[in-house]
Amino acid sequence: MSIKIENLIHTYMPNTPFEKKALDDVSLEINDGEFVALIGHTGSGKSTLVQHINGLLKPTSGKIIVDNVDITSKEVKLSLVRRKVGLVFQYPEYQLFEETVEKDIAFGPKNLKLDEKEVETRVKRAMKMVGLDYETYRNKSPFELSGGQKRRVAIAGVVAMEPKVLILDEPTAGLDPRGREEILGQIIALHKEYKMTIILVSHSMEDVAKVAERIIVMHKGKNILDGKPNEVFKHVDILEEVGLAAPQITYLMLKLREAGMNVSEEVFTIEQA
Ligand code: ADP
Repeated sequence: MSIKIENLIHTYMPNTPFEKKALDDVSLEINDGEFVALIGHTGSGKSTLVQHINGLLKPTSGKIIVDNVDITSKEVKLSLVRRKVGLVFQYPEYQLFEETVEKDIAFGPKNLKLDEKEVETRVKRAMKMVGLDYETYRNKSPFELSGGQKRRVAIAGVVAMEPKVLILDEPTAGLDPRGREEILGQIIALHKEYKMTIILVSHSMEDVAKVAERIIVMHKGKNILDGKPNEVFKHVDILEEVGLAAPQITYLMLKLREAGMNVSEEVFTIEQA
């Protein structure tokens, strides 16, 4: 299932003093089974871009074609688009609200009017996919879990809708190093074991260097670099100019890891400029 974006422009609050062109002629294609990271400084247009891919935002102009369907056309049912493209928002655990983990994850599938057995099957499968043991966690309150576990429950809620493409907007934000590793590891598993197409939004070069097969750099609403990590990291000058700090160090870290060396987080803690 491919995603094709053609000449996408998005302007917030047009014809007002607050007018803001958040996407400025973005064209790109994401193929079935890819693991793509969308990286860029805060305000570069990452969130705006991904919200177009599942139809949450409508373009000012341009086209978005998901699975050969132009989702910007009026006839398209957005509920069907959202079953194909799942979006995990920033801080998704804020949207947990049910008494138990099981009920929370079941909420989406229930709305699809699936029978009870199928809902249960999906909850079990989704929990397995995010590495939460069903019997251990099903009856726990989401609120008694750790940060990383809560986030896994929230991700499972989207995974239970069984989308082909999973978009995660800053999935490690606000977690401690252990929680970050936990979530990144789980996202890699969703890609490798369950063959999901992953679009990871991040402003952390460090996270992205560890996991993505392709990196798209956003700057002022444009996709300015796009390629395999080692290709993108060659453009150190551009990366520094757009505020993605210390790419050389990240690149070095990536190379050392590729060579099988165990590089500690403390040595290469990279803060955003
Ligand atoms: P990122 O995800 O890279 O941080 P965003 O897509 O959130 O970037 O934002 C891109 C630009 O659009 C920013 O200048 C931001 O202030 C603006 N913007 C985002 N959401 C809104 C909104 N709802 N209304 C007006 N401007 C917005």
